[in-house]
Amino acid sequence: MNKQSFKTKVIYILTAIIVVLLIVINKMNYRDKVELRKELVETVEETKDSKAHKLSPETPPPSLRGTIGLVIDDFGYRNDDVSDGFLDLKAKLTYAVIPGHEYSTYFGKKAINKGYEIIVHMPLENLSNFEGEDEFVLRTSMNSKTLQDRLRAAFDQIPVAIGMNNHQGSKASADKHVMSNIARVLKDKDLFFIDSRTTTETVAESTMEVYNVPTSRRNVFLDNESDENKITAQMLLLSQVAEEKGSAIGIGHVRPKTLKVLQKQIPALQKKGFKFEFVSSMLH
Ligand SMILES: [Zn+2]
Repeated sequence: MNKQSFKTKVIYILTAIIVVLLIVINKMNYRDKVELRKELVETVEETKDSKAHKLSPETPPPSLRGTIGLVIDDFGYRNDDVSDGFLDLKAKLTYAVIPGHEYSTYFGKKAINKGYEIIVHMPLENLSNFEGEDEFVLRTSMNSKTLQDRLRAAFDQIPVAIGMNNHQGSKASADKHVMSNIARVLKDKDLFFIDSRTTTETVAESTMEVYNVPTSRRNVFLDNESDENKITAQMLLLSQVAEEKGSAIGIGHVRPKTLKVLQKQIPALQKKGFKFEFVSSMLH
């Protein structure tokens, strides 16, 4: 074989390889193009489907019917299935802890770690003689220093608290001397006050306004009567007030029947378009 014919053969072979490669590449491109087109068509159809679903009249976006603030009082006495049950409720709830009890400090920490809001549930003197919490209760006969020292001691015991409401207090919450001293401490510590309104004679909210302490009031008591049907009716009343006013605050207690009603009524009201918010966001 001479040099010339060897060279020609090599050129032929190389040309044949190049031609085969070109055909293969062209076929691959074609297949890729078809795949790409299929994917595009599917994506467009999916987008159409999801748009059609969003605009469908069967699923309108839920509109806000009212905001509910819920304070649960009297935590601190117990650390059991009932108090733990409240820590499983799926809503922004405010828990009020009485100072001076076995679980006051512990429960405050436990509840804040679970994402709830904590306030001090401060014992205030009642018209009747029934009282507990002797080292904390605020009485009309006490001087300013004693009142302020007691309130500061309560916040020292429950340091996670960002505000307070009153436990009982049908006598002391109607007393300007007591309420002014509470207001001075709250102003100094940058905390808020929710008036539980245990008497119509209360001067709590008006005194807080004078001292520029953020404040609000209880609209509905949930469980003055320990009956599930009545507690449910009070929850519905609370939602009606929230719808009328835009927002409303309810107060209940750490009791088994109240827990049972809330386990049902919180999700039911959320479904109806009501929102639960911490009372700290409902102040004036
Ligand atoms: Zn109470």
